[in-house]
Parts: sequence; structure tokens; C-alpha cells
Amino acid sequence: MGLPTGLHWYNWHQIAFDDDYPHYFPAHDDFEAGVAELQRNGVFVMPYINGRLWDTRDHGLEDKAFSTVALPATARQESGEPYIETYNSKEPDGSPVRLAPMCPTTPVWQSKVAEIVHELTRQCGVKGVYIDQIAAAKPMPCFDPSHGHPLGGGHWWNEGYWHMLDNIHAAIPHDAMLTSECNAEPFLRWFDGYLSWHWQFQDQVPAFSAIYGGTIQLFGRAYRGGTTRDLALRMKAGQQLVFGEQIGWITPDILESTNGMPFLKRMANLRWKLSPYFHQGRMERPPILQGEVPNVTADWQWSGEWPVTIAAIQTGAWRIPHENRLALVFVNVDKKPHAATFDLDLIDYGLSGEHFAVEMVGPDTPDATWQTGRRLKQTVEFQPDRPFALEIRPIPAPGKSAPSE
Ligand SMILES: [Zn+2]
Repeated sequence: MGLPTGLHWYNWHQIAFDDDYPHYFPAHDDFEAGVAELQRNGVFVMPYINGRLWDTRDHGLEDKAFSTVALPATARQESGEPYIETYNSKEPDGSPVRLAPMCPTTPVWQSKVAEIVHELTRQCGVKGVYIDQIAAAKPMPCFDPSHGHPLGGGHWWNEGYWHMLDNIHAAIPHDAMLTSECNAEPFLRWFDGYLSWHWQFQDQVPAFSAIYGGTIQLFGRAYRGGTTRDLALRMKAGQQLVFGEQIGWITPDILESTNGMPFLKRMANLRWKLSPYFHQGRMERPPILQGEVPNVTADWQWSGEWPVTIAAIQTGAWRIPHENRLALVFVNVDKKPHAATFDLDLIDYGLSGEHFAVEMVGPDTPDATWQTGRRLKQTVEFQPDRPFALEIRPIPAPGKSAPSE
């Protein structure tokens, strides 16, 4: 990519996926060496672990530590039995793996997750850990009186995780990040990124980005196959960029794709140049285009056939308030050029001032700078594979000093 890249590493452990949790160690033999080599080359490794589940048969078909260690710390039904969940994973005899959600208030579970994250960051040297399900799964009403929390539902569930995550943060290196699945609000303060991979819907709006953009990094659309795969890739990447998400969650075979890779690389380069907007800034209302902008439709394959239609030109606006600067972002996801006009008042976008410098920011080098008043009106032919941004900041009027907020 020519840029710092993140690797979400699944199956770095010898146990099977969703089986024998939480006994993730030992890792595969070459894991530590692989992490070191990748990170030396600017690929930051974020392994997968699950933050909720303990396998009831946690050593193949045997109960190694579930009954002796985990059971008293499981979330309990009113009957006293632990809750049990099954996913797609199977035991060696073909039966479903039966996983118990753990009560997050218990020292057993808090210290177990902390111990795994500690070993990954301190021993294996990874720069981040993805802790699955914490920000995705609903709380379980736990009725175990020995846990010391009110029985049934309550805020105690979230507080248990807060305590766990506080302790993890205190123990891991300062530059290691934590991420989780989906986008639950109660955990925003503790995570650096959310795998918002469900955002695959027709007519979705970036409400979450509009509120929390700049607070947490969002990443992950499910990039999938089918006959419209290339168009779907451009649509998803285009929408991710203007919504402020990190681009990707895509398997490395994209590197072999002569269709997808050049576009993806341009998008990643543009996002890299704009990155302060996404971690220090806030989202503004996307510019509305006038003119004939067609829609495009592709099968996003979120679940079976999954047609999604969006405008061929995706637009976004991000502002860094304390620097009084704005980036308008445009991506033509189609394969044909389309001309359209934007006509906007920069004051509506939160800037202050009367005179502004506009800089064209492309994936490569900046190629134009000009000046404008507060009204910015322009007709542009948006070229395919040429995403760009207009970066706008106030400049002093002749004889005056720069305005500030
Ligand atoms: Zn409990």
C-alpha cells in the first residue's frame, strides 16, 4: 500500500476458531516472529480474541478448566444454570461448541481477558488487540448472588467491562490500541476503534459518524464477491471514506486484483492525507450536488443477494474546529465521469472568515490552490478512480489578520 496498514489477524492461535476459548496460547510457532517482521514493515498487527466466551468443553471434548475455574464466574440464568451459546464451530465429534458468556463483574473473567491482552501486547509485541463481542452483544441478566451485583438486568454489566478495560489499559503499552465489534455507546471511552461491519444497508446515513466521528475510529465493511464485486468494492470504499471510516476489512488477495487494488490504494492514500480530520475533527453535512448524478447498484452480498443503490458520486465534509479548517471529500465510484455542481456557503460548514484558500488534495501531490469568498460554487467533472478533497482554510483579507474562532 505504501502506507501504514493494519492486519486483523484471526486464527493466530493453535486452537480452532470459536473452540476451546479462552485458551488462546500457545500461538502458532512463527507468530511472534511474524508480528515483528510485519510491524517492522509498517503493518500493525491486531489479533482476534473473544471478550465474552468460555468453552464448556475447553480442551477438545474434555472439560479442562470450565467447571473448576469458569463456572462460578459465568452469567447465570434465574435457574442457576449458565447461559449457553452456539455458533458455527464444531467439536471434534461434530457437535456444536457450547460456549458460556462470562459475567464481566467477576475477577475471574476480568483477569483472564487482561492476562491474554497483556501477553499479546507485552510478550508478542502486537500494537493492538481486537476483543470480540463486548461492544456488540446484549447484556445477559445474571442471577448469581455470589457475584455481588444486583440480580437480573442493570448498569452493573457495563460497569464490569469498564473496570476490566481500565485495568487492561493500565497494564498495556501506551501505544497499543483496543478495538471491539459493532458500536455500542457505553464502551466508546475504552476502545480506540470499532469494527462497524454491519453497515451494509440501503439508504443508511452516517448518524454514528456525525455524532462520534473524531472520538473513535470506525473500520470494516464486509468486502465480498459476485459478478459486481469491483463496483461493490468502489461503492463501499467510497462510502467509507466520506463517512470517515478506515477503508477496508478486506482479505489480502485484493493485492492481486488489477481492478480493485489501484482504486483502493488511491483511496487509502487520500484518507491518509486527510486523517487528522477523522481523529481530531467532526463530520459536517455532506455537500449536495446539483446536476445529473446517476445512481449505481451492486450486490453487496451482506446476506445472500444484497443489492444496494447509492449515488455515483459520494460526498463528505469534515472539519477540525480548533484549526478552523474544512475538507470536502468527493469520490466518483462509477467507471464513467460525471459532471455536477456544488454551491455552498462555507459559514454553513462551521468555518469563520470571509476569505479562504482552497487546496485540491488528491491521492498523489496537491495540484492546485486558489482563493474564494465564503460562497464556493464550482462545476466539476468527477473522474472515475480520482477521489479528491478540497481543503479549505480562512486567509486574511488584504490588510487584515487571520480570523480565528
Ligand atoms: Zn453475574
